Amino acid sequence: MKITSNFDSGNIDIVSIDANEGDIKLKIRRDTHSEFFQWFHFRLSGALGQTCTLSLLNAGESSYPKGWEGYQACASYDREEWFRIPTTFENGVLQIRFTPVHDAVYFAYFAPYSYERHLDLVHQAQQSDQVRMEIIGETYEGRPIEMLIAGLPDDSKKKIWIIARQHPGESMTEWFMEGLLERLLNTDDPVARKLLQEACFYIIPNMNIDGAIAGNLRASASGVNLNREWETPSLEKSPEVYHTLRKMDETGVDLMLDVHGDEVLPYNFISASEGIPGYNDYIRNLERKFIEHWMDISPDFQDTYKYELDKPGEANLTICTNQVAQRFGCPAYTIEMPFKDNADMPDELYGWSDNRSAILGASVLNPILFVLKDLK
Ligand SMILES: [Zn+2]
Repeated sequence: MKITSNFDSGNIDIVSIDANEGDIKLKIRRDTHSEFFQWFHFRLSGALGQTCTLSLLNAGESSYPKGWEGYQACASYDREEWFRIPTTFENGVLQIRFTPVHDAVYFAYFAPYSYERHLDLVHQAQQSDQVRMEIIGETYEGRPIEMLIAGLPDDSKKKIWIIARQHPGESMTEWFMEGLLERLLNTDDPVARKLLQEACFYIIPNMNIDGAIAGNLRASASGVNLNREWETPSLEKSPEVYHTLRKMDETGVDLMLDVHGDEVLPYNFISASEGIPGYNDYIRNLERKFIEHWMDISPDFQDTYKYELDKPGEANLTICTNQVAQRFGCPAYTIEMPFKDNADMPDELYGWSDNRSAILGASVLNPILFVLKDLK
């Protein structure tokens, strides 16, 4: 019986393995140079037919212990299909009971999105004659940061920015981007065609490549939370944000989406910029329009369960969407998807999943088109 996590986005420490009893004690590793931890991803082999109890002993001390309440872990034999398995959280320990029917099985916090798949995504997208790929800079560890420009840039066009995965463990965000890109580049889709005629999209599918490979939940390789770096990004510590913001200053921004996952709430929702000093009727009205239209066309999206609103003038301007909304006077939304499931439309077998994230990503093009003509 063997546990390994020595691969792309792997994360687990072994405490003990009792092969006879199938009793496996584990701990989640902290993010690189950081106190955050919650993401796990590892492989169990040599346990065919044996009922195993996998105990993640430090789950109760993780960044979001409430994230384990009502949570079911993800497992996969073929690394394609990720299904949910019985999981409990008691006395600070997350316990997974499972009897493998094949020789080796993967476990993860959510369906992983690998660096190889990320590279496939951007390289396939660049083959569209509507797309250019630009390397806007390098990550802390020196990996290229890819930006896709979809729809040929033109001064008369609206500038729409969409970024994802500032928090690397929120792998659903890159599944969302995959679904979004696939639809946006589908030349048979009338919504996509209209959008590319009238807007230019600046898309960064993975803002935190180093952290994703390292198996981090929230931190980059330098140990910072990129979504608290937007007021004063540093080339040394947060080059990912530094280069992105510099690029935004160059292009301008008319609408911005930042895609995230939420550990606790079992819903899809938006968090907007109501607390920024520059909040006004223009931004407020567009926000209502966007949210209501998205609810109309996707039953997976709702606006009842969400974060508490910021009080006027009390927004944290180190957060991406607050900074962007304030800086460019434009609507900017943080989109949150669940790690657990959408409680309005639960799916016992898969929970919230890679596929559902991709479908939600494709659906967001409708509200973008709906508000496009009202963007200043
Ligand atoms: Zn996040």
